[in-house]
Amino acid sequence: MPIDHIKYQQIQEALAPKGVTLVAVSKTKPIADIAALYALGQRDFGENYVQELTEKQAQLPQDIRWHFIGHLQSNKVKYIAPFVHLIHGVDSLKLLKEVNKQAAKHQRVIDVLLQMHIAQEETKFGLDEKELVQLLEAISHEPLPNVRICGLMGMASFSDNTSLVRSELKGLKAIYDQYANRAPVEMTILSMGMSGDYEIAVEEGSTMVRIGSLLFGSRS
Ligand SMILES: *Cc1c(COP(=O)(O)O)cnc(C)c1O
Repeated sequence: MPIDHIKYQQIQEALAPKGVTLVAVSKTKPIADIAALYALGQRDFGENYVQELTEKQAQLPQDIRWHFIGHLQSNKVKYIAPFVHLIHGVDSLKLLKEVNKQAAKHQRVIDVLLQMHIAQEETKFGLDEKELVQLLEAISHEPLPNVRICGLMGMASFSDNTSLVRSELKGLKAIYDQYANRAPVEMTILSMGMSGDYEIAVEEGSTMVRIGSLLFGSRS
């Protein structure tokens, strides 16, 4: 399916006045689809798989801001460290340390978001509030100069129950408000909202949405 230009314009028109950043999630989609959206002005793209990301990054314009939104394994950080713009799914001190180490090798500071577990489903990755506090505590004792924690990311339940989804997103926003300005971090990004729930997410205070299928069509 070709990309939906009209949908793209509509989404951008809804997000731009609110200052919400659109990350176009291009996982499993061909280079041509990404190039088509790039031609319309889109620069932020998100991918879930390291190998797919590195292959696409090499073939596409260098001013694309690549977001890694999947579950990142420590041993794969090195492949994306030279260029990644923002890593959304950091949920352990071990991974944070590895990002710091690989970023240092490239003499850069890599921006990351801490992933919070907010959905009822057990399968989704992420920290609970207690683990977030522990992690922030740990890095206040052991600063990591080559990573910058810029905010939080979360995924609501994949559900038609909009009141459930809304309450989960509200919960994430409340945690964000509580910790955003608590040393040693200064958070400015709240990444929440996907094709099915981005409108609710924006109402609940999201600053960055990750939208795939609405723009590129459903994935097989
Ligand atoms: C795939 C994915 C998205 C986009 O999902 P859509 O429902 O296609 O918009 C957003 N965030 C994460 C973490 C994803 O894995």
